[in-house]
Amino acid sequence: MSFKNLNLIEPVLKALTAEGYSIPTPIQKQAIPYVLAGRDLQGCAQTGTGKTAAFAIPIIQRLHEQKSHKPGIQVLILTPTRELAIQIDESFVSYSKYTSLTHTVIYGGVSQLQQVKTLKRGVEVLIATPGRLLDLIGQGYIDLRRIGIFVLDEADRMLDMGFIHDVKRVIAYLPAKRQTLFFSATMSPVIEKLAQSMLVNPAKVEVTPPTSTVDKIEQQLFYTNKKDKPDLLNHLLQEQLIPTALVFTRTKHGADRVVKYLLRMNVKSAAIHGNKSQNARQAALNNFKNGQLRVLVATDIAARGIDIDELTHVFNYDLPDVAETYIHRIGRTGRAGNTGIAIAFCDIDERTELRDIERLIGKKVPVIESHPFPALSASNLPKKTISQPRRSGQRPRTHAYKPSISR
Ligand code: AMP
Repeated sequence: MSFKNLNLIEPVLKALTAEGYSIPTPIQKQAIPYVLAGRDLQGCAQTGTGKTAAFAIPIIQRLHEQKSHKPGIQVLILTPTRELAIQIDESFVSYSKYTSLTHTVIYGGVSQLQQVKTLKRGVEVLIATPGRLLDLIGQGYIDLRRIGIFVLDEADRMLDMGFIHDVKRVIAYLPAKRQTLFFSATMSPVIEKLAQSMLVNPAKVEVTPPTSTVDKIEQQLFYTNKKDKPDLLNHLLQEQLIPTALVFTRTKHGADRVVKYLLRMNVKSAAIHGNKSQNARQAALNNFKNGQLRVLVATDIAARGIDIDELTHVFNYDLPDVAETYIHRIGRTGRAGNTGIAIAFCDIDERTELRDIERLIGKKVPVIESHPFPALSASNLPKKTISQPRRSGQRPRTHAYKPSISR
């Protein structure tokens, strides 16, 4: 099936061709006809499935087909993070380039001046994060009374990030008669209830559950020691063909420490996390996308939804506490038909997390046994090695590797 079968208009088809899209993804195939028909939609899909285009394409078409230009903001897209907001705006730039549609994006952490200036000129589509949106509504710069289509993106993440009250406050500003498109990567009972409170007779669309999307990604597991993780990461970066890597750490400080170490080892890298300014985060992301940086080290929230088609490697430098996060992390690679490699480090304190991940994905992650920084336990650790700190530049002893971890 091609996009032509979806009753799309010429300016949209032309933009999709320019983007190199020929075949709609499953979520696009399912969602576009409903959105074009004006139905409410409940979509269960994570980033990486093409969900942005699934709502952006029909929205652009519906606005383009309106006979007369209506004043005021007509479409609101609410998304949890600044990175996602910027990516959605970039999608609108691409898909609407052969129409006269106006759109803009607003998010916190930067000056509001430019955002207010653009809003004053008037836009039809507004992409926003909740805090800045409520702030600018409060200051009288935004009027949502003419909204005809409302998109709530990543509803589950909104909940996780504590934005649910803000979302409800935003909804209270919207007209009751509107089309609502609701997207969430997961559908827990709480999310289902939220969806029901917002949607009228919704069409439901769902794409492959996340657990099966990991199949085209090669997974590898390295048992190692907490203190050896920086060396193991550097070793793999030096020894293997790793053009680009996204490295996940548990904490912001952990991310900074890894970057400091990698820079000392002459690996071009940067960190993105909540303590960095928006400009620093965007600059790091841009430099990573354009190849100036080889490694981006991130925490989960900052990296959520990061969309880099050519990302070849994802490192779980620290295993996540929540097993589903592992799937989200490794799903950052292997996109747009590419293959990807996901490498996980597991130290002795992370056995429970590993067990939960393997239970969720329904298989054991293949262990790479021969490497220079194997996990040492009291039973296989030579006493000499404990008492003798390694001299810099000296390779550690390679043991015949026996996993010391009981699972
Ligand atoms: P998303 O799930 O919206 O984050 O999209 C994931 C990636 O897939 C983005 O890089 C899009 O540019 C790309 N993409 C979306 N739809 C298509 C399509 N029909 N064909 C090829 N690539 C696509």
